[in-house]
Amino acid sequence: MKNPSQPILPGAALGVMGSGQLGRMFAIEARKMGYRIHTLSPDRDSPTGQIAEREVVASYSDEAAVRDFAKGISVLTFEFENVPSQTIEWAAEHCIVRPAGRVLHICQHRLREKEFLSSAGLPVAPFRKVTSAGELVQAAAELGLPGVLKTAAFGYDGKGQRKLSPGDDLVEAWQPFDGAPAVLEGFVKFEREVSVIVCRGVDGAMATWPVCENEHANHILDITYCPARIPDRIAEDARALAQRVALALDLVGVLAVEMFLLADGDLVINELAPRPHNSGHFSFDASVTSQFAQQVRTVCGLPLGCTDSLAPAAMSNLLGDVWLESRTGTPDWAAALAIPGVHLHLYGKAEPKRGRKMGHITATGRDVEDAAARARAARSALLG
Ligand code: AMP
Repeated sequence: MKNPSQPILPGAALGVMGSGQLGRMFAIEARKMGYRIHTLSPDRDSPTGQIAEREVVASYSDEAAVRDFAKGISVLTFEFENVPSQTIEWAAEHCIVRPAGRVLHICQHRLREKEFLSSAGLPVAPFRKVTSAGELVQAAAELGLPGVLKTAAFGYDGKGQRKLSPGDDLVEAWQPFDGAPAVLEGFVKFEREVSVIVCRGVDGAMATWPVCENEHANHILDITYCPARIPDRIAEDARALAQRVALALDLVGVLAVEMFLLADGDLVINELAPRPHNSGHFSFDASVTSQFAQQVRTVCGLPLGCTDSLAPAAMSNLLGDVWLESRTGTPDWAAALAIPGVHLHLYGKAEPKRGRKMGHITATGRDVEDAAARARAARSALLG
């Protein structure tokens, strides 16, 4: 195994678990810097695999495959957090793992994550653990409704959650959740949803990108504005809060901190992701150092890059819906790319499905409203 105090230099093989678009963009940045990329996931011809030198198709619970994979790389990182702890322990016997398995263990489970944050004195919505209909009734009585019931594990993009209102039949509401631990959260009346991407190096140095403001459609991120349209003082608070989270986790890597901004300027943490995040995609085209290049630098023990913006930017996701709704069945790429300041990213996924993230558009502009107008115009142009 490499000496963890020595940087991992270009030419080395970096491993990524998971093989989606986040791994793909990490791989693109790593290859630009002269690293080799190996990826392991259950999928073949994956977004990451198309960019990697080595694509291992195996289950995360295949011990022999995981150990063999880890022996061939200098450092292992992740493009999603739902990798079993056992898998990470096997890998950690053969290679450096960043972020540490402990960080993934906390962030892959809402209850552990909320308990961790609140015990570190960081602001989260009031919550209760729920494992039965009776506990849900009790939790609702203690917190009051409305509230949001969420599965503790494997939730993303609003999947595995339900808003509960006063008067709802809680025994009926519990049925689809029965069998696995859940969390009831008090409903937060937020003004805006924002996120901060923070990175922390092996030496403890930290940096954040400017605050992102996120609008969702059907629970999926629709458009990100960077910088967020919020006062500077609140932006400073949000960036400082994200750094407190990274420090409390003793993170090495990149972390997204999703927050709710309340009318009085207070910030409440909603969710953590110990990896680059959809809301940070703008950084690929509009920052001095992208979140993916920074992931390479942090996991390799290299100095952090500058996180300043090159221009105000907006990012718009391209879901499979764009293909299904376009006039010819193929989005009009040329029409979108004719708009100044527009950059296109496609993830190499063969089959467009409703709600499936197929790619994104980043647009830069004079200001963030101008950038968002260009991103929206580009997305409309795709429909033909
Ligand atoms: P999540 O999967 O936890 O990121 O939640 C998806 C979306 O549901 C968030 O982006 C919010 O718009 C909304 N949401 C989640 N939790 C709460 C809450 N406690 N109060 C109000 N809205 C919430």
